[in-house]
Amino acid sequence: MSDPGPISILRVAVPSPLLRTFDYLPPANVDAEAILPGCRVRVPFGRRQVVGLVLAQAADTEVAVDRLRHIVSVLDSQPVVPKDVVALALWAIHYYHHPPGDVCAAVLPTLLRGGASARRRERRHYRATQQGHEGLRQELFKRAPKQRALLARLVGTPDTVDEGTLDQELTRWKPAAKALMDKGMVERVYDFARSAQDAIPRERGPLRNPQQVAAIDRVRTLMGDFRVALLEGVTGSGKTEVYMGAIDEALERNRQALVLVPEIGLTPQLLDRFQRRFRQPLAVLHSGLSDRQRLDAWAAAREGDAPIVIGTRSAVFAPLARPGLIVIDEEHDSSFKQQDGFRYSARDLAIVRARLLNIPALLGSATPSMESLWNARRGRYVHLRLENRAGAAKRPVLELLDIRGQRLDEGLSASMIARIRKHLARDEQVLVFLNRRGFAPTLLCHECGWVGRCGRCDAHQTMHSGSQRLICHHCGSEKPLPQACPSCSAVDLRPIGQGTQRIEQALSRHFRGYPVARIDRDAVRRKGGLENLFAGIRSGHFRLLVGTQILAKGHDFPLVTLVVVVDADQGLFSADFRAGERLAQLLLQVAGRAGRAERAGHVLIQTHHPDHPLLDKLVRDGYPGFAEATLSEREQAALPPFTHQALLRAEATSQAPPSLFLREAVRAAGEPSGVELLGPVPSPMERRAGRWRAQVLIQAPTRRPLHEFLDRWIPELESMSSGRRVRWSVDVDPADLF
Ligand code: ADP
Ligand code: ZN
Ligand code: ZN
Repeated sequence: MSDPGPISILRVAVPSPLLRTFDYLPPANVDAEAILPGCRVRVPFGRRQVVGLVLAQAADTEVAVDRLRHIVSVLDSQPVVPKDVVALALWAIHYYHHPPGDVCAAVLPTLLRGGASARRRERRHYRATQQGHEGLRQELFKRAPKQRALLARLVGTPDTVDEGTLDQELTRWKPAAKALMDKGMVERVYDFARSAQDAIPRERGPLRNPQQVAAIDRVRTLMGDFRVALLEGVTGSGKTEVYMGAIDEALERNRQALVLVPEIGLTPQLLDRFQRRFRQPLAVLHSGLSDRQRLDAWAAAREGDAPIVIGTRSAVFAPLARPGLIVIDEEHDSSFKQQDGFRYSARDLAIVRARLLNIPALLGSATPSMESLWNARRGRYVHLRLENRAGAAKRPVLELLDIRGQRLDEGLSASMIARIRKHLARDEQVLVFLNRRGFAPTLLCHECGWVGRCGRCDAHQTMHSGSQRLICHHCGSEKPLPQACPSCSAVDLRPIGQGTQRIEQALSRHFRGYPVARIDRDAVRRKGGLENLFAGIRSGHFRLLVGTQILAKGHDFPLVTLVVVVDADQGLFSADFRAGERLAQLLLQVAGRAGRAERAGHVLIQTHHPDHPLLDKLVRDGYPGFAEATLSEREQAALPPFTHQALLRAEATSQAPPSLFLREAVRAAGEPSGVELLGPVPSPMERRAGRWRAQVLIQAPTRRPLHEFLDRWIPELESMSSGRRVRWSVDVDPADLF
């Protein structure tokens, strides 16, 4: 082999839509070897200067060396992005066939992308613990005046004291602080996590049941190695307890734990629990943070000051000083998959990262994805189960309510109304689930048949009663509710079908005197809306709850004993092969909200298809039986997880260009071996937000030929002139086929 020669080139990801990194020379007088992957650099790019991230060092380049440009300046003397995250980014660039610049935008907090210093601006604060107060009173520090002075200063204030103040008031206080912290008399508090620690009494968990103990023990044996464990347990079976047990183990070993959750805003209860249990600085990363807060939390994770890091999707890239464990809660949740731009799956990347770090990944769900179940079934993942609800809570009973031929009043059958009445009479709460907000999904003219359509999508506009508007739920376009038919001027306009507002109204009419809480995106948008509603639900003020899938997540409603699913039929006949899986997951997540305390929950599902095999299986055998049946169906139909897919999408403001481009793309593909191309076809919703959309599905029995094909094909797509007249994208492992 020839000598590759000394490192002289740096491969840099820059903000650009191109599917490649760019090679640069180091600044004059700087050794290329000294600029490590993970450092930010300022480089000339076109006629601008931009901040880029060094992804690799190299000995040679395909560009003529005299045409290479020099890095202007190196922003970090040490990598800001740790090695494993650089490796993860490289993996993602390759696997998702996505531009490095865009991938690195997900890796770096906004302020760092702008060139800001990675140093934290926030300060450390100190405070005396209960033990510290005792210690001072007992005069333990006669021979340690520095410690005594510091402790006296801290005991003297009800609040915390920050380092700047201590620097001014005391000398050589840092070693004293360290000694006092070791004795448990002083604790350090960080800005990024102050609320996490303030005055929250530490809570001991419940006594774990044997299945929880077994699961935690098993995870314990996996520490220090790469292994994936799938924890399957119905809602309320105590999965979170298992996560906490596993995290305890990681902390014991002086390692950090990264916890990924679908949505933080909707799961404040989970954060509360972690804070009460661990009383450790918790770095929380989610989209609601300011850029500065985000950088502080990110840096606290990176410096190891936050032993536990909790975040949503993009937190999979959070840097960790001492990584020990990755937990993915609700691993089936579709919000882990980014739906535009860099279309990565945070769950899948978390597993890749665990492999790179040689640490375990713990996936948990009441309703695991078919992908994870299949991996568990063939022994790739350790399968852990919690079969019963923890404590005294009972499993909810599912029941189908056949509404064929029944008279429906605003979507509710008479027997359903009777059942609701019975529960209300017993002083219990009832949750009514309908995954459609607004008043009615369609407005129809009874004279001429006109319906309110969106001018920009192939969809009806939803009628909203509060704002008196027609709103498209796909693109957001809206207009005032017409007083008369725009087509024939008749005034007989009728809302068709049900939304949550309409159900809310119907329930108020049927059950006078029972306050109704409506929980959907419209109700939550008002500031403090969600908290007020939840407070009223917990106190028992609201007796009836109506809501969309927002209700399905995170929150427990211990007083709810009946869950009513108004319409299960929407999900039964969809073009998307995952619709059934989604419906089952959603139904069980909603069902899981009910009857958490000693009261058993009942779930009543209204349907016109009580014999539908999916519903039947679900009601009879629960999720495991349903999943078994679904997996064998998928196997027979050669669908994921038994095959691997990618989707090439194209869209434009007129109809022809997408299909022209896709036809040329298919022609260019030829007949690749081991890969099947399906299409082009119009997307299920062909026009959306004013754009025409079409797609080609690429499918292969194994990953390798799929990626070899994409590696070859995508550069060809980039060079097609028809591609310049459309917006196109490649989605690897698409979650939705539209
Ligand atoms: P999951 O995450 O599976 O939904 P949780 O861990 O949230 O379940 O547990 C549900 C409820 O049961 C919580 O209130 C939790 O405190 C309680 N719990 C968990 N484990 C036990 C146990 N072993 N004994 C009693 N209560 C428990
Ligand atoms: Zn009309
Ligand atoms: Zn629209």
